[in-house]
Amino acid sequence: MAELLIRVGTQDAALIERVLQDNEARPDRVVVDAHVAKAQPRIRAVALAAGIPFIIDPQTHYLQDYQHPADPWASLPFAQGHILTPADLMRPKAAADLAAAVIDYQVEHDATAIVLPYVHIERVDRGWIQVQRALWNASAEHIRKQGLRLPAIAVIALGWRLLDRTTWPEGLARLLRTLKRVAPTEVALAASKVDAGVHPDARLVTMIATIRRIAKLAPVIAWQQGVLGEAAVAGGALGYECGIGWRERCDLPSSMSQHRRPPSGFGPRPVYLSALGRSLPKRYVEAVIANHRLAAELTCTNFSCCPQGRDALLSDMRSHAIRARRGALTRVSAPASPAWRWQQVAADAEARLDLAERVNKYAERAGLNVKVPTETLRAVLTVADNRRRTISRRPAA
Ligand SMILES: [Zn+2]
Repeated sequence: MAELLIRVGTQDAALIERVLQDNEARPDRVVVDAHVAKAQPRIRAVALAAGIPFIIDPQTHYLQDYQHPADPWASLPFAQGHILTPADLMRPKAAADLAAAVIDYQVEHDATAIVLPYVHIERVDRGWIQVQRALWNASAEHIRKQGLRLPAIAVIALGWRLLDRTTWPEGLARLLRTLKRVAPTEVALAASKVDAGVHPDARLVTMIATIRRIAKLAPVIAWQQGVLGEAAVAGGALGYECGIGWRERCDLPSSMSQHRRPPSGFGPRPVYLSALGRSLPKRYVEAVIANHRLAAELTCTNFSCCPQGRDALLSDMRSHAIRARRGALTRVSAPASPAWRWQQVAADAEARLDLAERVNKYAERAGLNVKVPTETLRAVLTVADNRRRTISRRPAA
């Protein structure tokens, strides 16, 4: 069965403790941002007590940008007060020191797997590919020297352009040559902005092709892909990782630039709606709920999950978000045949798109400032439909 990795924040410790006691709702692994491992040790305690793998994302791509000194990530032992360039990281010992600090931090905080340091690579010619290869080599060396026996997860963090097959010889293939030697247990593919642009369906096709290519080397986790997670799994990923209500899409450049500003606290958490396969801002849900028919369609009908029915939409939907994602992922990954998996993704996307369009029509008529994004759903539907047909046309092997 495909794996659901849920990223929890400092405010989710009590929630995750409850959720991990419930066999139907529990995620397969718990992931935290690097600073959360230090700030909220209770999360790792409850994950370890429940026997759930606990993963710390070092988020070393933040080194490629300026971080506000008050940002919690900036206080980590491997953070830097200034922007690091490829030249900085290619200096003697720089990669080795960084790899050691990043790995030791995870071990000190009881991670059950090691996420190797990574950088965001948007172009093949800026020197970041060399940096990434150096970081992987240095990590393998440090793990060997320390005699660590934990599984290793290599994050490949690519801008959407580098998912395209035409860039592979200068990009992905060079990375994979190093990874073949480093032999990580898994690869986490952090593919930025796949759901954006004029042709997100074309970008999604390239992401699926990239997953299939990497999967020849090691199992692939779709990193930070809540909205595209099920499609990634139908396309061959072992599972996907995402947040609860937020952190549903991978956009590393934006996440890097957000950390330039002083931390501003969180707004209301978006509400995950299984009927749409994504979260929406709470004020959208508050506005749309006035329409009883739409409210009924958006409501979770699983009584054991949301016994308050419609009122649940405005209350704490965090455990619903995890349980509903778990359910949808099981549904998509259950069929043994890839064509049937895509069939399920297509059917889900079609129903979600239909509802999203009706919500938008109602919002327009009622003069509400609400617009459910439909581009991603449309892209998933197009790709799933194509994959389903292509695979079923192939003669049986
Ligand atoms: Zn529910």
